[in-house]
Amino acid sequence: MGSYRIQLVVGIVSSLLFVFPSTQGWGEDGHAIVCKIAQGRLNSRAAAAVKKLLPADAGNDLSSKCSWADHVRFIYTWSSPLHFADTPDALCTFNNQRDCVDQATGTRGRCVVAAIANYTTQLLDYGSVPKSKYNLTQALYFLSHFMGDIHQPLHCGFTTDRGGNDITVHWYTRKENLHHIWDDSIIETEVERFYDSNITDFVNAIQQNIKNEWADQIEDWENCSATDIPCPTTYASESVDDACKWAYKDAEEGSVLENDYFLSRYPIVNLRLAQAGVRLAATLNQILDQGLVMSM
Ligand SMILES: [Zn+2]
Repeated sequence: MGSYRIQLVVGIVSSLLFVFPSTQGWGEDGHAIVCKIAQGRLNSRAAAAVKKLLPADAGNDLSSKCSWADHVRFIYTWSSPLHFADTPDALCTFNNQRDCVDQATGTRGRCVVAAIANYTTQLLDYGSVPKSKYNLTQALYFLSHFMGDIHQPLHCGFTTDRGGNDITVHWYTRKENLHHIWDDSIIETEVERFYDSNITDFVNAIQQNIKNEWADQIEDWENCSATDIPCPTTYASESVDDACKWAYKDAEEGSVLENDYFLSRYPIVNLRLAQAGVRLAATLNQILDQGLVMSM
């Protein structure tokens, strides 16, 4: 009975994922890339904490759990609005007071920005005595996932087209919605074309860029403010700016997006994946460092 129920739930979840593939956030690959980059940058204390929080079946691989939040969003329906922070059309700015709202119910404080702040706060409980009242493993999964989502420009897109979900275009010959192109298609085309379909090579290339090309920017990415890590309002502001400058530009309903669009946009995707990974690591390094937690 128990296992039948589990199978049933898994079946329902998979069919829902099949029906709504375009609303997942970065696709599985994008989220896995962010978490791989992040886990490679953890200090020893944070690495040990992540290892402890992950279940045995993860094999100490955070990336294997980075899409968990998408897999449960139809069971934990309350979590659905936490993947986004859409903004009024064409303003191209993020205002937390105005935009951090569940668009379906109008409930304030229900968006990816608030979710990042919430799960960061929960994880500060790591190592506390007595044991935390929160499920810190789930907090880690949610934080790792939402740090990816907030860096996908169309997760901070416009409310009326639901971050590009309602804009139908062609990706070369295939009919897609614009949101899906930024979640998956650009990454897929890039990995196929430049990395012989090998994701590991793609992750290595981003890591090389972090060490070389972007090396002098890393500190700015990490230390977004003198007192706070992470800074989700900053990340959301950057995303809506990219959404206006890159994602929505020349991608009206019915457009055919080909090499001109792909070749000018994939560097933005690479940068956002790198920033998400670096910032997730900086956040985990800070909050899972027990010495720091004890001193707070
Ligand atoms: Zn998501």
